[in-house]
Amino acid sequence: MNRRDFMRTGAMATTAGLAGGAATAPPSFTTKIIRLNLQHTWTTTMSSSQYRDTLHAAYSRDGITGHGEGAPIVRYHEDAGGAQKAAESVRDLLLQSDPMQFGKIMAQVFERVKGEWAGKAAVDIALMDWVGQKLGIPLYTYFGLDPKDAPVTTFSIGIDTPEITKQKTLEAADYPVLKVKVGLATDEPTIEAVRSVTKKPLRVDANEGWKDKEEAVRKINWLEKMGVEFIEQPLPAEMIEETRWVRSRVHIPVIADEACQRASDIPRLKEAFDGVNVKLDKSGGMLEAYRMIQIAKALGMKTMLGCMVSSSVSVTAAAHLSPLVDYADLDGNLLISNDPFHGVRVEKGKLVLPGKPGLGLTPAA
Ligand code: MG
Repeated sequence: MNRRDFMRTGAMATTAGLAGGAATAPPSFTTKIIRLNLQHTWTTTMSSSQYRDTLHAAYSRDGITGHGEGAPIVRYHEDAGGAQKAAESVRDLLLQSDPMQFGKIMAQVFERVKGEWAGKAAVDIALMDWVGQKLGIPLYTYFGLDPKDAPVTTFSIGIDTPEITKQKTLEAADYPVLKVKVGLATDEPTIEAVRSVTKKPLRVDANEGWKDKEEAVRKINWLEKMGVEFIEQPLPAEMIEETRWVRSRVHIPVIADEACQRASDIPRLKEAFDGVNVKLDKSGGMLEAYRMIQIAKALGMKTMLGCMVSSSVSVTAAAHLSPLVDYADLDGNLLISNDPFHGVRVEKGKLVLPGKPGLGLTPAA
């Protein structure tokens, strides 16, 4: 099935549902890998590429189609093929279960599928989109949240030459807060290039790029003087004790990303980090991400929602939970040129949630 057919299936199911004719159509669950093209070649400490493949899932029943997506994370040895296999392996469970028992279904999915968090996220999001549509409410309402509380999202500037970094910074004029990737030998020229054209608040992500604690403290102390709000994952994930040492010597919040995949990681991070970056692709979907945010808040930690390069499906799902968090870094869909859907919008940096039931997605023309 090509991309257009895949989306038409969903559109047809929705139309048929409105006409009342699809109530007898059997439920279906389909998956597809979609190649998302990047507007700029995207470089972090981990990789450099011009496209990303993400897994898309569509769950149809009673004339309603829920859409889901998961972006496999190379850092955790995932790829789109593995995500697809994982999602396909629970098709029988999805088709035989009552989707309103989504909590029970996802517990069973988590039990059956080891790893493959992107695959599980695609299943969870498709299910939750369906549930929201079935109930006739946007998912932020399902979670009891006020869309007006959705935060400003950062816009990410990828690592590049100082000239291109300046250019990218100027192109991000509409975004009041920028996120800059560091963790390479070029950190100082990168930040200086951004600062040469803007005074906006910056949030910085080192993606585990600094290898020892002294270097991390030196870099962070310098970044503090450059007007940086917080630093994400300065040291490799396993260097918890060293990060605690760093945290006691710097003056801006230290946020865990690679060190924090799941809920069970959070308590042991409390002494080393001020907050956690939750991503649906790491947690395995919205339900687990919601749980992680609540656990972090209960421990007095700051919370952030992030995303991978992905389409509006995954980013909109995260945005529905964003009224809960202190910081949002939900720009993955803004970095691609062939987004198959419209969903959450960004106005002067602020996330604007669609008011339609479920995720509130519309297929792109
Ligand atoms: Mg990060």
